[in-house]
Amino acid sequence: MTRSVLVTGGNRGIGLAIAQAFQAAGDNVAVTHRGSGAPDGMLGVRCDVTDPDQVAAAFDEVEAAHGRVEVVVANAGITDDGLLLRMGEQQFQRVVDANLTGAYRVAKRAASSMLRNRKGRMIFISSTVALSGAPGQANYAASKAGLIGFARSLARELGSRGITSNVVTPGFVATDMTEELSEERKQQILDQVPLGRYAEPDEVAGAVRWLASESAGYVTGAVIPVDGGVGMGH
Ligand code: NDP
Repeated sequence: MTRSVLVTGGNRGIGLAIAQAFQAAGDNVAVTHRGSGAPDGMLGVRCDVTDPDQVAAAFDEVEAAHGRVEVVVANAGITDDGLLLRMGEQQFQRVVDANLTGAYRVAKRAASSMLRNRKGRMIFISSTVALSGAPGQANYAASKAGLIGFARSLARELGSRGITSNVVTPGFVATDMTEELSEERKQQILDQVPLGRYAEPDEVAGAVRWLASESAGYVTGAVIPVDGGVGMGH
């Protein structure tokens, strides 16, 4: 069955792999971007998730083309690392605004469509550092941990309407986001990963697709690690 799927930040990196996985399964896929345009065959809508008006306009555009959004993947995210004593308030808030408040804006608009449909799948891309923390990433880890409480609250609020709300916590995935880390830091991270390698974006996409599938119909409020085992015990 073809569904209307929206992936924020689906123009590149993990979001693109997620969007492509849904597209390969025959869904109608829309992705948000901030000016780069969309990959071939996908509907691209311009949207900065820090702007509520842009979020509303993006949903309106997607729903005019594909119908009410049935699967939403809140994937857009940023890092802005720094040690606590050097982390300015703006630097903290900027990351929380994009990663956590951005997901709130997206989920709220998605919920209004899903409630009318009496079904829906919300999937939030968090991170393994939500659970373990990471030096220099207090803002990022806080925003990603916040997503877990947020998603679980929605699981409780919306479950009776056939809407599931789940979180995926990827470990280290080679994308533009992680490219900026030093070689030394990359090796340090790799040394902690039982599987001894980074994730492929496709491997994150696989978990997301499963959460949106019929077979995951009874899964809600879950936190699914795709992290090579690095988060075990958290
Ligand atoms: P990239 O840096 O490759 O891509 C980030 C995406 O988010 C881009 O599409 C970007 O859009 C979009 N984005 C950023 N800020 C905004 C905003 N304010 N409004 C709308 N879109 C925005 O990152 P990844 O693909 O690596 O990461 C995707 C998600 O996965 C993020 O939430 C990240 O935190 C999470 N994650 C990544 C891990 C990794 O190792 N890479 C590990 C764990 C989690 P644009 O192209 O316009 O900039």
